Amino acid sequence: MVPVIALVGRPNVGKSTLFNRLTKSRDALVANFPGLTRDRKYGDADFEGRRFILIDTGGINGDEEGIDEAMAKQSLLAIDEADAVLLLLDSRAGLTPSDEALIKHLRGCEKPVFFVANKIDGTDPDVAMAEFYQTGAAQIYPMTATHGKGVRKLVGDVLEMFPEAETAAEEEVRGKKIAVVGRPNVGKSTLVNRMLGEERVVVYDQPGTTRDSVYINYERDGEAYTLIDTAGVRKRRNINEAVEKFSIVKTLKAIEDAHVVILVMDGRENIVDQDLHLLGQVVDSGRAVVLAINKWDGLSQDQKDRIKIELDRRLQFIDFAELHFISALHGTGVGNLYESIEKAYASANCQLNTRNLTMILEGAVFDHAPPMVNGRRIKLRLAHPGGHNPPIIVIHGNQTDKVPNNYTRYLERVYRRELKLVGTPIRIEYKTSE
Ligand code: GDP
Ligand code: GDP
Repeated sequence: MVPVIALVGRPNVGKSTLFNRLTKSRDALVANFPGLTRDRKYGDADFEGRRFILIDTGGINGDEEGIDEAMAKQSLLAIDEADAVLLLLDSRAGLTPSDEALIKHLRGCEKPVFFVANKIDGTDPDVAMAEFYQTGAAQIYPMTATHGKGVRKLVGDVLEMFPEAETAAEEEVRGKKIAVVGRPNVGKSTLVNRMLGEERVVVYDQPGTTRDSVYINYERDGEAYTLIDTAGVRKRRNINEAVEKFSIVKTLKAIEDAHVVILVMDGRENIVDQDLHLLGQVVDSGRAVVLAINKWDGLSQDQKDRIKIELDRRLQFIDFAELHFISALHGTGVGNLYESIEKAYASANCQLNTRNLTMILEGAVFDHAPPMVNGRRIKLRLAHPGGHNPPIIVIHGNQTDKVPNNYTRYLERVYRRELKLVGTPIRIEYKTSE
């Protein structure tokens, strides 16, 4: 499973700066879902090919009353969800009473804590470090978050504690992994029950409960699937037992671990920012995706038309995903999801070859050449496959670092069309060969 790392520290020490550097997320997921405490940001991070989930506890205002209390509370919530904690300190400011209060709180936590001396630039590192060593920390990591100095050593050491899973759980997972995700109350539990209760479905083992989400093996029309149930339906021992609270970390982990994500939205409410943030996370993760607009029962034609127009507008950025209007409650349209799941899975894992990819590239460049930069035209020469789920296309040429984003998006569109890829993001990577 992907490790979860929390950033804690008082305001202004550089948490967001580090967060942004590591996640590169266009859009961090902010925990303002109903029933959740605000002020934590979640992002998908990528460090030299290793993925992890980062939580930033920023958002506490510096002149707030009881700042130490608020900070401690935020930190504890984040730590609860995390596997490791980075405590950021400000080398320019030295050790402050707020830092000390927070460190006291961290003492009791069972998770590994890494002490980081940020803003080491423009200070005497020895003096700053010596002061921080008084906290009793075994090791202090010097860092300049703004320039990325020290980040590699720090993150490398943190991730070393979490060796890449040797897919120990792999034997209990069969076939395609499908995660059902969505914000609270959109109908995930109802959909999971419906999918498993379908006549054509044979559910196998009792789900494991060791992980946050429940993994359920089943077969449908001779195809094996593992459903990743973030709603925890099968964890309930009886019908009255409360479903556990929605958790962003659980959702992000499920997305990371899935082959195909079913993102459930509530057709009766407008698509809200939280839906879009989740969708952004799915796209960033590279997972294949099927969109399910739920609660499509009992709406008038007029309402349906209006909602569809709104959806078209807001979901433009993910026009490659197939959209289903379903009623989990009545079962309408649920079976049809499988066709899209299969298509998305096949697209995400399709066999690509260098000859074909290069031919498509040549066609695209012929129709619409890349721009000139510094008086020289960008040349894109050949393309080869670089990976699956999502499909990665590696393009070689010169001045490739100058290719404008809109040209990359053009190439994506051409590849998507020519390769008939449905329901999966595509990644284009460039290599300069001069
Ligand atoms: P947060 O409140 O902990 O999230 O702190 P921010 O990331 O918002 O950073 C607060 C300020 O410190 C910003 O103006 C950053 O540009 C600056 N800052 C962050 N890291 C560094 C660093 O390594 N060196 C210097 N000189 N400034 C930094
Ligand atoms: P979750 O929090 O995403 O797991 O959502 P639930 O499955 O618990 O559903 C939340 C509420 O929406 C419940 O009252 C469901 O009965 C209701 N609901 C779920 N699916 C549908 C649907 O297709 N149509 C209608 N009308 N209500 C639904």
